[in-house]
Parts: sequence; structure tokens; C-alpha cells
Amino acid sequence: MSRCRICRGKLIKIIDFGKIALVGDFPKKKIKQKKYKISLNYCKICKHVQIAEILNPNLLFKEYFWETGISKSNIYLMEGIIKKIKRFKINAKSKVLEIASNDGSFLELIKKKFKCFVLGIDPAKNLKKISDKKKVLSISDYFNSKLSRKLLSRFGYFDFIFARNVIAHVSNPNEIFNGVKNLLTDEGTFILEVPHLGNIFQFNQYDNIFHEHVGFHSLKSIIDLSQNNSLKIFDVEKIDSQGGSLRCYICKKSSKKTVSKKVFQIFDKEKKLGLFYPKELKKFKLKILSHINSMKNLIQSLKLKNKKISVYGASGKGQALLQFCNLRYNNIDCAYDKSKLKQGRYTPGTFIKIKKPSKLKRQNTDYLLILSWNIKNEIIKQEKKFKHKGGKFIVPFPSPRIIS
Ligand SMILES: [Zn+2]
Repeated sequence: MSRCRICRGKLIKIIDFGKIALVGDFPKKKIKQKKYKISLNYCKICKHVQIAEILNPNLLFKEYFWETGISKSNIYLMEGIIKKIKRFKINAKSKVLEIASNDGSFLELIKKKFKCFVLGIDPAKNLKKISDKKKVLSISDYFNSKLSRKLLSRFGYFDFIFARNVIAHVSNPNEIFNGVKNLLTDEGTFILEVPHLGNIFQFNQYDNIFHEHVGFHSLKSIIDLSQNNSLKIFDVEKIDSQGGSLRCYICKKSSKKTVSKKVFQIFDKEKKLGLFYPKELKKFKLKILSHINSMKNLIQSLKLKNKKISVYGASGKGQALLQFCNLRYNNIDCAYDKSKLKQGRYTPGTFIKIKKPSKLKRQNTDYLLILSWNIKNEIIKQEKKFKHKGGKFIVPFPSPRIIS
């Protein structure tokens, strides 16, 4: 793909990472995996930052290993959003749609709280089974304009549509916005959460760059997408999710809702950060290369002292970081993760065995590299026994550091 996902403008390269294995492809055996090219680019016209390599979504999302319900921080976030939407007078008569509903955890909460009609859309068939058990109505499919017309004839309009951590994953985000426009009631609210390019850029979070994350969004890119599809963003807030995200409140262009000052404030901040200026965007490459070097040097120096190093968290971004920094089974002993789906398998491209966290002991680990650094406090608290016995943690961002 050499054209922008939002405006079809020409793409200009920031950095080329070479080839990596898909970060969601956890093999059962140490077998040679197929690797795919990946590079970061910006659009010459609208400046949207994106990768240029678009893979068949079936490769990425048919069997998805991330279950929403697992992390405590995520449950806390879901409860937070429920408090926020009360101002829009959600009640038992409301109709709620979630795009990329994952295992149904969020809709289950909404249903319990407001006793309203909920519907989830998610392409992962393995997650639908979990969703069914929760008695959350869901359809295994990709949300787009075509599906939105089918949903309209079957279910009518929706008062609330949620899209949390999905817009960055799709190759054509205009399809999602267009589908939302088709399904939203005149005064309905579309709530979208997306990792903020501002944080990724400012704090050097290049571990967000992998094939599932096609686009890196700013408030500007969300405004552009809304305008393209007769929608308008009327409010926005920063949330502590995925290392710093934006929660955007969007409605139909014709809605009576007034636009909050915060929209202008965050837009101005983005300008000051240089998110729309090629000169600033190109600096990202040097920052990334320097971080990869310090990560490699730290691990190497510990290995020279015969230290045992393991990693915590088998999330997608952890797998990107391991591959970018070339940290593999030969210098990392073990990976720990709560997800039963991943335990017993190997990390993609780097072949580190994944075990359940209860196997983590001070005897087998000196340093624990926290790959899910966005929930580092939760992990450190959980592994306090390891810490009390002298175990140390490595936090990779903003720059690699040891916490004892
Ligand atoms: Zn563009």
C-alpha cells in the first residue's frame, strides 16, 4: 500500500524495520515462521502516520489471543467509561453497539448496568464462544459500510456505538466511520478510543508499530475521518490506556451538540508537538534506533554477568519490541503471561517459551523485563514476592531502566 488510508495521499517513509513475524502468531513449536515487511510512514497531504504494509485481516484477526476481560486495568477502564456515558442519559431503552467487541466483557457490563439492548461485532470466532457464554449477542464479522446496512435493516438505529482500540487496526478507517454514520440515531453518540500518536511520538513508544496497528492516530486524523463521513467530534479526553489514548465523542454533523473547548486545546498541543510537520516526524527514526541500541546494550551487559532474564507479558507490543531489539530464546529464558491461550506456546519470531506467572520464581529469574509496561504497577504489585526476594524489574520506556 503506497497511499494514505484516510485521504489517498502519497506515503513518505520515516523508518524501515525490515521483516518481523506476526506478533499475534504464537507457534506451538519452534518452527521457522513467515516474516513480513514493516515500515512507518506519514502521508504527504494529511500527515497521518501509518505503516505501508497491509496484510489480509484474516491472517491477523480470525483467531485473536487478546481477551479484554483479563487485565484489571482494563476492567477499571471499562467501569470508567460507564460513569462517563451517564451524562448522555443511557437507559433501559437505549440500544448499544460495540465494534470489535472482543470477548463481550464490556457489553456484559453495560447490559448488567443499564438493562439495555447490546450487540457486539467481532471477527474472531474463538472469542464469540466466550461472548456467547456471557449471554452477549454478537456477530462474527468485520464492521464496515456494507455490514452497517444489513445491521440497520435487522436492528434499526443505535443510540451508542463504541469502537475501543479498533480504528488503529483497520486498513480503511473511512469504512468504520461511514458505517457508524449509517447506524447512529440523530442525537446518538459514537465513542472511540485510540492510542494517541502524541504519546507514541513523545515517549518513543515504537513497540506499538506492528502489522495489527496500521494507523497511529492524532486528534487531527479523527477530525479528518469524521469530516469525510458527515460526523463531528464534540468532545475528547485523554485516558490512561495503552500508554496514553484519546477517547473521542463523535456525533452526526447535523446534531445540536456543541463542540467542547478541549477539542481545540488538544489540537493545539498536537501542533506544538510537531505531529503534522515532516521535519519533526522524521526525527522519530533516530529516537527509535537509539532506544533499540540501549535496550540491546542493557541486556548484553546483564548476560555478561550471567544474569537470568525473563520477560513478563506476551502482548503484541512486547512481541514487536523483542523482535526489533533482537531479544530471543538465546538471551531470554522465559516469558510469563496470564493468558491460558498463550501458555505452552512460543513467542513469535523469538521463540521464548511462555509459562503461567505462578512459575516465576526468584531462583529462575534475576531480572524481569516488563513488556506490558503500560500496566507495570499492576505487574510489580502482583509479583511482590519476587521483588522482596531481590528480583529486579526492567521497564523499557521511555528509556530502559532497572527498578529494584
Ligand atoms: Zn492522508
